[in-house]
Amino acid sequence: MEDKSSKQQPHTPDQPHMKSSLPPAIAVPKKIQLKIAGYEICPIPTGVFGLDGGAMFGTVPKVLWEKSNPPDEKNRIPMEARALLLKSKDRNILIDCGNGSDFVAKYGEKLGTKFAEMYGLDSNGPSLLKSLASHHITPDQITDVIITHFHFDHAGGGTCEANGKLVPTFSKARYHVQKANLETARKPNLREKASYYAANFEPLEMAGSLNILDGDTQNLLPGISTMVSHGHTQGQQIVKIADDNSSLLYCADVVPTSSHVRLAWVMGYDLEPLRLIEEKIRFLGMAADQKTYLYFEHDPYCDAASIARNGQDFALQERFLL
Ligand SMILES: [Zn+2]
Repeated sequence: MEDKSSKQQPHTPDQPHMKSSLPPAIAVPKKIQLKIAGYEICPIPTGVFGLDGGAMFGTVPKVLWEKSNPPDEKNRIPMEARALLLKSKDRNILIDCGNGSDFVAKYGEKLGTKFAEMYGLDSNGPSLLKSLASHHITPDQITDVIITHFHFDHAGGGTCEANGKLVPTFSKARYHVQKANLETARKPNLREKASYYAANFEPLEMAGSLNILDGDTQNLLPGISTMVSHGHTQGQQIVKIADDNSSLLYCADVVPTSSHVRLAWVMGYDLEPLRLIEEKIRFLGMAADQKTYLYFEHDPYCDAASIARNGQDFALQERFLL
């Protein structure tokens, strides 16, 4: 347990990047290992970045969220961009890809040069490819990528620059995406313009890598289903991995951190907060009743947690490192 939690600590203390040491208000998560539906469940941290704490907690007052998520001097809280690798003998499936790199090639000189600084990204810390390598996986061995939605902190690592051209990072993989999300990424509304970039989906279209889904799926891949949610952004999909004994829900931005389990704790970024709360009631109700682990893409302090019903709301039971 000690080992793994120390790995999650900040990597370059001499640099002004986001740090993620465990706040005193949070107990050390318990270390467990999961194998579900024949897949080894391997968290893939791609790097800690920072977003405004107020934006991450919407109408929740700072005096409530700052205990579990202490902000820096710019009011940014540390956020992991945690992808997930599902390893079986036949497939290596990746869910989401983190922020990625090659920002100048992808976003242009003006935005690209300041992108890492704006979001407190640390190029010396963990990355998508380094984390995959720690599980002995090269990009060519990824068979499938499930993109929950094309916001840059989820899809950025899915494309990269090679020989002056933008290409899929995982050249042999099928990228499973939702039609409604691809449409909103192509024509983002004013509030989401800074989150959707053509560089994160056009190279996938050009390479013929996309498998475009339209709605919920059952057994998209063995033991894996997806459920569509529209409250955070149009056409986001969350991913459930299940067998007869256990299940895990990759919550993406429906429940970005363990602090967001409570129904009213939704983000200022969410396009339709009331709709998201309705969706949380359904997804979290299912997770609490079926003892499904929740997997958090953005929690800097734990990978997953169990939850229980708490009156009309939901409460955390236990946090885990996987
Ligand atoms: Zn998002």
